[in-house]
Amino acid sequence: MPGIDLHTHTSGSDGTATPRELVRLAAEAGLSAVAITDHDTVDGLPEAMAAGREFGITVIGGVELSVSDGERALHLLGLFLPETPTGLGAVLAGLREKRHDRNRLILEKLATAGVHLDYEKVLALAGGAVGRPHIAAALMHMGVVKSPREAFERYLGSGGRAYAPKKKMSLDRAVSLLAAEGATVSLAHPYILRCKGPEMEALAARWRERGVDAIEARYTEHSDAQTREYLALARRFDMGVTGGSDFHGAAKPAIRLGRGRGRLFVSEAVLAALLERRAGAGLPDRAGHFPAGIVAGDQFG
Ligand code: AMP
Ligand code: ZN
Ligand code: FE
Ligand code: FE
Repeated sequence: MPGIDLHTHTSGSDGTATPRELVRLAAEAGLSAVAITDHDTVDGLPEAMAAGREFGITVIGGVELSVSDGERALHLLGLFLPETPTGLGAVLAGLREKRHDRNRLILEKLATAGVHLDYEKVLALAGGAVGRPHIAAALMHMGVVKSPREAFERYLGSGGRAYAPKKKMSLDRAVSLLAAEGATVSLAHPYILRCKGPEMEALAARWRERGVDAIEARYTEHSDAQTREYLALARRFDMGVTGGSDFHGAAKPAIRLGRGRGRLFVSEAVLAALLERRAGAGLPDRAGHFPAGIVAGDQFG
């Protein structure tokens, strides 16, 4: 049975494959559906959806947003967006403008630390949403660091010499923006919260209440125990289940589309169950020509 992948990044944010290339790679990998979920941009969706029609694979419009809930930071996936989500697109364009200000501040701090990098060089390495991964790549090109990891440790990460925080959107604002586009909102890679048991349950309950309607239980970095815990949470709180690799192309070469580091598999039943939930909530399908005959099996299996 073919798999699917509901979490991928293109050159529109910090991945390396263009939207069309990514969709082609997904089709070549034998996936029947792929969601494009770039950070802070939906500009790649029309190209990706056209490629879906070209290569005969279902393309789901998505986005990944970093949000804050009080002191806590989390990532949300908005899935099943329309091809051109105009309202969301305008807000994201504003966020990307703010990224430029922050990036320039990072470069000023780098200069203070003795590293002189032109913003033009960073922009030349980026496609849409420009951020620290592109600054890290520029530092590698300059020979200042040997890996993105080193760039984050020495300069760009929260303990680094050129760290500048990013102002995040609030959870409530993000949920309402995504809901206005008819999206399914999923809590991305819950393992980064470093919470389990009652503490994780309380978070899921709280966020469910605030409009998060699915959990990305299946994810590249999740252990079997974590996957089981998140599937159980979804069941318990009547949330949907999503799953994906967080593919970034050559920027994270160990992570493969649909397979993560080799152990990931997201079945078509996951998509069918999401579509069933959407239908139940009166939301449009937006999964294009999903292959006929697939029925909602056990998304938890
Ligand atoms: P930004 O949105 O500009 O703050 O950049 C965040 C992105 O940087 C994340 O999505 C990751 O892809 C990347 N990133 C964060 N921490 C690290 C790290 N320690 N090593 C490599 N990449 C990282
Ligand atoms: Zn990324
Ligand atoms: Fe993320
Ligand atoms: Fe991601």
